[in-house]
Amino acid sequence: MNDSSDLSTFGMTTQLTVIGHRSDEQYGFVNPPLYKGSTVIHRTLDDLEHRRGKFFYGTAGSPTISNLENAWNHLTGAAGTVLSPSGLGSIALAFMSFTKAGDHILISDSVYAPTRVFCDSFLAKFGVQTEYYDPLIGRKIEKLIKKSTSVIFLESPSSGTMEIQDVPGMTSVARKYGLKTILDNTWATPLFFKAHTFGVSIEAGTKYLGGHSDILLGLTSANKECWPTLRATYDSMAMLPGAEDCLLALRGMRTLHLRLKSAEKKALELAEWLLKQFEVEKVLHPAFQDCPGHEFWLRDYKGSSGVFSIVLKDEFTKNDLRDMVENMKVFRLGYSWGGYESLITLVNPSKIRTVTTWPYEGFVLRLQIGMEDLSDLEKDLNFGFERLRSGRARSALSKL
Ligand SMILES: *Cc1c(COP(=O)(O)O)cnc(C)c1O
Repeated sequence: MNDSSDLSTFGMTTQLTVIGHRSDEQYGFVNPPLYKGSTVIHRTLDDLEHRRGKFFYGTAGSPTISNLENAWNHLTGAAGTVLSPSGLGSIALAFMSFTKAGDHILISDSVYAPTRVFCDSFLAKFGVQTEYYDPLIGRKIEKLIKKSTSVIFLESPSSGTMEIQDVPGMTSVARKYGLKTILDNTWATPLFFKAHTFGVSIEAGTKYLGGHSDILLGLTSANKECWPTLRATYDSMAMLPGAEDCLLALRGMRTLHLRLKSAEKKALELAEWLLKQFEVEKVLHPAFQDCPGHEFWLRDYKGSSGVFSIVLKDEFTKNDLRDMVENMKVFRLGYSWGGYESLITLVNPSKIRTVTTWPYEGFVLRLQIGMEDLSDLEKDLNFGFERLRSGRARSALSKL
């Protein structure tokens, strides 16, 4: 059994053990070898001139790279995948593939902040006009489409604030107007949401695929219609990740489902617990009924991962918050997610958004739930909330 056999009769977890390696081409070894390098030797002038070999030159791919690309095509159902040195690199590649000077593009107001920076600074320089839309706009996106619109960019759920978008609804509008859709699918991964039929999908492999916070990687996948353009753009730049990182991603892929399921379960339990805490104004978790867009999560997604956010009551000060988050014993302060360690980040939607109003005054904390014992995570947050409250008590005393 290998990559090219028909795997459709097998369950997803079996498929994850089979794709991305060919032991018959690897002297029997289970895992693929690490191929690094630039030059590929060709036997004949004809091979050299006409790219007859399976591999041509390092920038056009290697066995290590194509193992991961093929595995990802299999998981997403995409016609093709290319790999970038970071998730943000994948996003940039997708935009560079499907925009040109004079285009108008539509981007969710809730996207991962560096996506905004890329559009507002880099793309603007090349004459691409970015317009932001309400992440919950759904099919009404139609009203924002202009003659010059080329791309609708979605991120579902939204980074930090968790709104779930009506991906099928919005992409069907896009199709009607011949627009390309690009979806940042990092939170769900292809195991919880299959995005291939919609155009282009992005996965920051840095997160759940890598799974151990030890690589930076991006995967851009495309359906049949978008694939030739994506590949041509990629080949014109040759921004490839290192081979070691691809191998680590392939290794991460074998346990992706286990880690996602574990994160899902712990995150749900912790989110339930957080609902009951006095200091918490709101829990933003896509699987909760009151999460904006929850009905789309219910309809379209197979699960929820280990990243969600909470809004604190607005009575706490920045100093209270500092005391809470700087003195955690298990949760660490840091960006990114999908690793084995639990993390907290401060999200600032009201500062970033330009066309929607963030409805809360309190601090927004994004939590990444790692592999630690749930009871330790609860205890850690409990002591953290105590520090929040005691800060408030201190400031009340100082006013007396
Ligand atoms: C982390 C992240 C990215 C970028 O990934 P990097 O590899 O860190 O550049 C893009 N989109 C989302 C939703 C992310 O969480």
